[in-house]
Amino acid sequence: MNFTKFPRRKYLQDPTPIEFLPALTQALGNEVKLYVKRDDLLPGAAGGNKTRKLEFCIGDALAKGADTIITCGAVQSNHARLTASWSAKEGLDCHLILEERVKGSYKEKASGNNFLFELLGVKSIAVVQAGSDMMAQMNKKADELAAAGKKPYIIPGGASNAIGAMGYAACAEEIMGQLNDMHLDIGHIIVPSGSAGTHAGMVVGMAGVNGNIPISGVNVSRTKEVQEAIVYKLTLETAEKLGVKTGIAREEIVCFDQYVGPGYSLPTDSMVEAVKLFATKEAILLDPVYSGKAAAGLIDLVRKGHFPKDSNVLFLHTGGSPALYAYMDTFRQE
Ligand SMILES: *Cc1c(COP(=O)(O)O)cnc(C)c1O
Repeated sequence: MNFTKFPRRKYLQDPTPIEFLPALTQALGNEVKLYVKRDDLLPGAAGGNKTRKLEFCIGDALAKGADTIITCGAVQSNHARLTASWSAKEGLDCHLILEERVKGSYKEKASGNNFLFELLGVKSIAVVQAGSDMMAQMNKKADELAAAGKKPYIIPGGASNAIGAMGYAACAEEIMGQLNDMHLDIGHIIVPSGSAGTHAGMVVGMAGVNGNIPISGVNVSRTKEVQEAIVYKLTLETAEKLGVKTGIAREEIVCFDQYVGPGYSLPTDSMVEAVKLFATKEAILLDPVYSGKAAAGLIDLVRKGHFPKDSNVLFLHTGGSPALYAYMDTFRQE
């Protein structure tokens, strides 16, 4: 794939590691060998997947002469934290619009990502109610800032447009290179599927390098049908932008929605189990909202015999551990 036509910042020094998970493999019965791609170790304050997308989104913002970034997310958004992080590093102002998806969940003095927004020097935080038109809210903020002489640039939620998703097409290429170096034959990749840029980008990149490894998403909020349609649309847009010509069929987009529980960001028993298993067996910190639920899906699929015996499965760890500190009661309850 050719990324040279697009403005891009270089935020990664090296590929993130791919590691075997021997103790977790053992704990789950040794039927399937589990590996993890450590995107929780990406650069950017406290790590996580948005950094790969922001290489392209902030690259585009700078190419357009922006001096201010506006983005949106949930009240404990990792994306908002990483956008604030790279904005700080680039000397850009950063403004956040936060959607209170669960009523009463925004606490000005909360820990986790919320505290980090403050520490990373965001210029303003506006909290709006669930279901608000986030793009309209960001446009309004952009108009205000432009009237005050600023040059604002809007990054959509999760940086999940075709620009941002290219970061995960690049990740699929990186993974394939590592697997070839390791001579490791992965049968299946599991990714969290939220605002969809990670999932869509991975599918495009895998097609772009002819890797032929199936990729499945584990949903964190929507139903299977709705999420698959969103991922597929973004997959086609990203493939078009990058000029990846391999026709990607609708059937290649597969999402599991049975690990969402009562809703976005709301804890489930299987998420708590997954977070504790990864921590105690492998000393890897997941998060309660995304990687914890995706890992709960991975664990259940392994237990159910979804993957062929003796196959190798790769879990994409997208980060998010700062959110753990906003959920301590959930983990101490048991
Ligand atoms: C945003 C996020 C995801 C989901 O990625 P999308 O590209 O939005 O689907 C997964 N894990 C973490 C920790 C995230 O912050």
